[in-house]
Amino acid sequence: MKIKAPVSKNEQLDVSIMDLTYQGMGVAKVDDFPLFIENALPGEELTIQVTKVAKNYGFARAISWKSESPDRVKDVDKTYRQTGIAPLQHLAYPAQLKFKQHQIAELFKKAHQDVEVAPTLGMENPTQYRNKAQVPVRMIKGQLETGFYRQHSHDLIPLTDFYIQDPAIDAAIIKVRDLLRQFEIPAYNEISDKGVIRNIMVRRGYYSHEMMIVLISRTQKIPSQAQLVDQIHQALPEVTSIVLNVNAKKTNVIMGNVTRVLYGKPTIEDTLMGLTFAISARSFYQVNPQQTEKLYQMAIDKAGLTGEETVIDAYCGIGTISLALAKHAKQVYGVDIVPEAIEDAKVNAQKNHLTNVDFFVDKAEDQMIQWQASGVKPDIVVVDPPRKGLAETLIESTAKMGPKKVVYVSCNPATLVRDVQLFQDLGYVIDGPIQPVDQFPQTPHVESVTVLVKK
Ligand code: SAH
Repeated sequence: MKIKAPVSKNEQLDVSIMDLTYQGMGVAKVDDFPLFIENALPGEELTIQVTKVAKNYGFARAISWKSESPDRVKDVDKTYRQTGIAPLQHLAYPAQLKFKQHQIAELFKKAHQDVEVAPTLGMENPTQYRNKAQVPVRMIKGQLETGFYRQHSHDLIPLTDFYIQDPAIDAAIIKVRDLLRQFEIPAYNEISDKGVIRNIMVRRGYYSHEMMIVLISRTQKIPSQAQLVDQIHQALPEVTSIVLNVNAKKTNVIMGNVTRVLYGKPTIEDTLMGLTFAISARSFYQVNPQQTEKLYQMAIDKAGLTGEETVIDAYCGIGTISLALAKHAKQVYGVDIVPEAIEDAKVNAQKNHLTNVDFFVDKAEDQMIQWQASGVKPDIVVVDPPRKGLAETLIESTAKMGPKKVVYVSCNPATLVRDVQLFQDLGYVIDGPIQPVDQFPQTPHVESVTVLVKK
C-alpha cells in the first residue's frame, strides 16, 4: 500500500523544529513525516510553507516565527546562507560546536555504538579563517563579476566580502576582477561554452603572507596576458606566484590538467607546526591553518611516538602530517594519489632536513596492499581520507599489517562510523574519546580524530 504524505505542496502549517540535519537544515515532523527547513533551529516554533514533497520526506520554507531559539544569531546576511558559504551563521558559535559533537555521537548511536565524543575544539575568532578562495567568474549585464553561486544552481551572486575568508584574499579577488574588467577580458559562459576566465583561485600563507593567484581559463592563453600578469603583481605586492590553469572542457570540475607559471614560482610557502611547506596550485592544503595546527597536534599526541616507530601516513597530501610525525618517529611512509602533491611532499622533506620519510604516488588502497605484500610492519597508521572515507581493501590490508594504533582523521562522520565498524570486525577497538576539531566554522562540516587500537 502506498502511504500518502501527510502534507502537500504549498500547504502552510505550524511546526516545531526538533533537530538539525548534517547540512544544517531544521527538521520538523508531521505524523513522523520529516520536513527540512532552511534557517530553522531546534526548539523554534514557526509557520512554514511546503515547497517540495518526495516519497519519504519534504522541504519547506520558513514564513514566520512564533518563538526563536536562544542560540539564534540575529542580523545575519542572508547571502551567506543562499550561497552556502556559511549555512550555520545563524547559529551561535558555541551551539555550532555542540552541534558538531552531537552529529558524531548520534551517528555512532544509530550504529549501536557506545562511544564518547569530546567537546569540539573551536576557534576564538570563527570568521575570516580560510587561507584559500575559489570563486567563479561570470558576466552579469555585460560586466565581469566575481562571487559565489546560489546554492543548487549556477546563478552567480556577486560578492566582495566572503565572510569566512582571509580579508587579504577578498581584497585580491576584487583587484584581479577590476584588472580583468580593465583589460576587457571576457568571463566564461557556461551555456555557450565560450569566453575565457572561469574561476579565480587564491591561496595565502597564514604565516608567510605569500600569495598565489591561479587564473583558470577555458583558453590556452588569456588576452592581454602579459600586461594583466604585470599589473596583478604590481597591485598586489604579496603575490609571489601567478599560475594559469587551462580547463577547456564543458564540465563542473574546476581545474584542468595543464598549469603554467606566468609569474614567480610554481609554489607558495607556508609554515605549520614550525615546518616549512611548499604548496602548488593542484595540491590539497588544509584551509584553516590555525585549527590545522591543533588537529595535527592532536594526531601527533594521540599517535604517542617515542622515536622508534614506523609510521604510514595514507592520504598524505603535501606531507604535512608525515613530516610533523617524522620528527618523532624512526621511519615514515606517505602516499597520495595526486602527483603534484607528492612532488611537493618530497621537496618539503628536503626543506625541513627530514631524511626518514619516503613518499609514493598511488591510490592509498593499492599502495597499502603493496606495503603489506612486501612485509612493511607499521606501528602506527594515520589515515586522512576525503569525504568518501576508506576503501574496504585499505582497512583489510591495514589490519593484516597489524599496527598497534590507527589514527583516523575524518572530515565525514558518516563514513567514519562505517569504517570504524569494519576495523572493529578486524580486531580493533576505539580508544578514548573521539575529538572533533572545528576546521570549518559557520558551516556544518565536521572534522574529528579517532584512535583505534589493536585488541
Ligand atoms: N593529510 C593531508 C591531506 C588530506 S586531504 C593534509 O592534512 O593536508 C585528502 C588527500 O587525499 C588529498 O591530498 C587527496 O589528493 C588524497 N586522495 C584522494 N583520494 C585518494 C586515494 N584514493 N588514494 C590516495 N590519496 C587520495
